[in-house]
Amino acid sequence: MIHPDTELRFVGPEIGYGVFARRRIPCGTIVWVIDDLDMRFTLAEVRAKPPAVRRLLDHYGLLHHSGLRIVPWDFGRFVNHACDPNVLPTAWDFEIAVRDIEAGEQLTNDYATLNLERPFRCHCGGGVCRGRVRPGDFEPLVRGWDEEVRRCLPDLLRVEQPLWEYVRRPAVVRRSIVSAGPIPSVERNRFGPAREDPLAYAAVPGRRARGRLKASPVAAPPPRPAVARSAPSRA
Ligand SMILES: [Zn+2]
Repeated sequence: MIHPDTELRFVGPEIGYGVFARRRIPCGTIVWVIDDLDMRFTLAEVRAKPPAVRRLLDHYGLLHHSGLRIVPWDFGRFVNHACDPNVLPTAWDFEIAVRDIEAGEQLTNDYATLNLERPFRCHCGGGVCRGRVRPGDFEPLVRGWDEEVRRCLPDLLRVEQPLWEYVRRPAVVRRSIVSAGPIPSVERNRFGPAREDPLAYAAVPGRRARGRLKASPVAAPPPRPAVARSAPSRA
């Protein structure tokens, strides 16, 4: 589920649609979380679909580390890629803002975090644009993603979190952040066959519960522009 303070906008014929902040979204805010309404497909189910449907699943879906292809049910599937994104995944099936996202700014993710199966050409135009985004970008970049995420995690417990009630195992997340213990690496999201039973995940038992976290003053790093998606999967 995408953050409620976002909207879908048409960016242009090359990019297609993108997701933009309707108001300021502070660093540490959960901006997208896997929820029970998201569509889940096992590899066998994907293979059984006609080619035209498989293309849609490939285009709008992400490959979860469990091996399931997940297609967001809302416009979260239109978040574009940028090589210097303002949103990154955590190891807890949600993505957070890794800097303040100002009203009107586009939300972007790095598609290399999504278990890409094929490279694609990037037009994000940022100073750090890799030009071509490859499945193998995950390993060299994962430490940097972890650093960015960990820098924002303390804010996660301070800023308003409209999506908190959709987080699975919120107590685990809270404990990890509050304790001085190690924060799980985004490395956990790397797809490796047989790491988990996709069917077990598909059931997604008990979730929900909890109210949202209290809002309170925040502080955080600077914003940045973005661009470029419409090519492969969602973010
Ligand atoms: Zn780029």
